[in-house]
Amino acid sequence: MSTQAPRTVVSATPRISALKESAYRIRMHALDMGETQGQGYIGQALGVADILAVVYQDVLNHRPAEPDWPQRDRFLLSIGHYAIALYAALAEAGVLDVAELATYGSDDSRLPMSGMASYTPGMEISGGSLGHGLGVATGMALGLRHQGSDARVYNLLSDGELDEGSTWEAALACAHHGLDNVTAIVDVNALQADGPTKGVLRTEPVTAKWEAFGWHAIRVDGNDIEALVEAFDSLREHRGSPAVVICDTRIGCGVPMLETREKAHFMRVEEPEWQLARDQLTERHQIAVQEEGTAR
Ligand SMILES: [Mg+2]
Repeated sequence: MSTQAPRTVVSATPRISALKESAYRIRMHALDMGETQGQGYIGQALGVADILAVVYQDVLNHRPAEPDWPQRDRFLLSIGHYAIALYAALAEAGVLDVAELATYGSDDSRLPMSGMASYTPGMEISGGSLGHGLGVATGMALGLRHQGSDARVYNLLSDGELDEGSTWEAALACAHHGLDNVTAIVDVNALQADGPTKGVLRTEPVTAKWEAFGWHAIRVDGNDIEALVEAFDSLREHRGSPAVVICDTRIGCGVPMLETREKAHFMRVEEPEWQLARDQLTERHQIAVQEEGTAR
C-alpha cells in the first residue's frame, strides 16, 4: 500500500491559510523561547512547525482547557529535545499561555528544555531517551481499544529514532494487534546528533521498511501544509492497520539564515541574530502570503 500523497496545486483556502498562519506563530514562539536560552534545538522546531500546526489545529480531537480529558487524542513526543517545538504548538493551541513561554528552560518553569510529562500540561510522556514513544503509543492504543474508546494515539518520532531497535519492536507489535488507532509521524530531517543520518546509520528506504512491518505508509514534504492536510485527511477513513506519515522536513525551515547553518542539531545563535531571524521569518511568511493572494 505504498502511497505517495497526490499533490495538487491548491490556491490557499481559508483552512490552509489559517494553518500557515498557525505554523508562522509556532515558529515565532520557538524563536522567542530560543532567545531566552541563547541556544537549543531551534532547527528541529522550525522544521516540524508545519506538522504541529496541522496536527494541533486540524487533526487532534482535544480540549485545550482540559488537557487530561479522557476522550482526548494523545500526542506523544518521544523526542524530548523537540519540547521547544511542542511548547510553541501548545501555546498556539491554547493549552499553555503564550506568556509562560518566556519561562522556557528556567528554574521552576513548567517548560524544561527536555519534555517531561510531570511538568507540562499537554505533554503526555517524558521523552528524550529515544526509541520509547512508539512502544508507549502501542500500549496506550491497546488500552484505549479495550476501553472501547474512539481516542487516537499519535507519536512524533525522529529519523534518529529509527536507529533504535525498540522502535521496530513496537512497530511489529502495533501492526500485529491491528492498531488502526495509532498514527506515527516520522520527522525525516536527514540529520541526527552525530551527523547526517545516511552517514551515521542508513535508514532509507524508510517507507518500504514501515510497509514491510505491516503499516500503511504515506510520505510527504513535511514543510508543505497542503500535502500534510491531504495526508491526514486521507487517513480519516483508513482502517485495519496502523498508519505512518513520513515527513521530509528541512532543519531551520522558514528562516533562511538558519536553514544553512552548520552544526544544525543544536544551534547556538548569537544575541544580535535573534531579531534578524524573526525578521527573516516574517519576511518569508509575508512573501508566501502575497504569492498566494496573487495566485488566487
Ligand atoms: Mg533527525
